[in-house]
Amino acid sequence: ATMPPLLSAIANAGRHGVLVKSAVVMERLGQVDAVAIDKTGTLTEGTPRVTAVHALPGSGLTDDTLLALAAAAEHRSEHPLARAVVDAARARGLRIAAVADFASAPGVGVSATIAGATVEVGAPARLLGARPTGGDDDADDPESTEALARARQLGEDGQTAVLVLRDWIPVGILGIADRLRPDAAATVTALESLTGTAPMLLTGDNAQAAARLAAEVGIGDVRAGLLPQDKVAAVREAEGAGRKVLVIGDGVNDAPALAAAHTGIAMGRAGSDLALETADAVVVRDELATVPKVIALSRRARGLVV
Ligand code: ADP
Ligand code: MG
Repeated sequence: ATMPPLLSAIANAGRHGVLVKSAVVMERLGQVDAVAIDKTGTLTEGTPRVTAVHALPGSGLTDDTLLALAAAAEHRSEHPLARAVVDAARARGLRIAAVADFASAPGVGVSATIAGATVEVGAPARLLGARPTGGDDDADDPESTEALARARQLGEDGQTAVLVLRDWIPVGILGIADRLRPDAAATVTALESLTGTAPMLLTGDNAQAAARLAAEVGIGDVRAGLLPQDKVAAVREAEGAGRKVLVIGDGVNDAPALAAAHTGIAMGRAGSDLALETADAVVVRDELATVPKVIALSRRARGLVV
């Protein structure tokens, strides 16, 4: 028998390195008319590296003991930033201590008990705002002021700042940088021309780092500092306005938005298991540029001119 067009399209998508989970998904891909893209691991390669380690004065830590502490807290997380911290500690030959009570909060960071102290590693503003003591004046202590100033500098430089708190006191800041995917800008352009709508960037990262990267790839609509549910809200808002939104993401933090979207695509190589399971399709061969290709395949299969 001749293959039905949607099944041939699935086979074709597979040859491009994209796993499309069903014929229904193959059909829906060609209907999308808006795109929401995650930043870290999606527009960027997802193999970030630690580029700066600053133990705060008065913390009693050296840059190495700070990095070792952060790596201990992070070593059970599958977040790309966590892997960067652990790799940097290993590269310096540092010992990574055992931890208890490990917990991670998508879009925020991790926490663990290490040698009797509570250690938190993650987004500076969110961690400082979440401290149990202090209330609104939280960020007024000298450690927080210093940490936030350093975080802002790193952000302006296009890096992601990661704060380390020990017993809710800032002890250091790490700078982490990831490379833009080589096909990111071309993919944004292709998606814009296929859908007729400028893609939006949805990220949990800080506004400066997001704006800088968005400018490099040609995205004007940037939503930064988002929690997983904020990404869902952005998708729902566009769908409420009649859009069929394609979400492209990789993280645990993207899973709810991947599920809420008309169609969700996950980046496979560095993507979290939850994102890969939730998404309708998976980019297995780690090339972002295959996404517009599968949209075009879908339209062709449905007899639409691309
Ligand atoms: P994105 O939406 O760009 O993929 P995430 O939502 O995964 O980013 O993360 C948002 C922010 O939360 C990160 O920029 C970082 O500041 C913080 N964060 C989340 N998880 C971790 C972690 N395991 N270690 C350090 N920081 C983290
Ligand atoms: Mg991500």
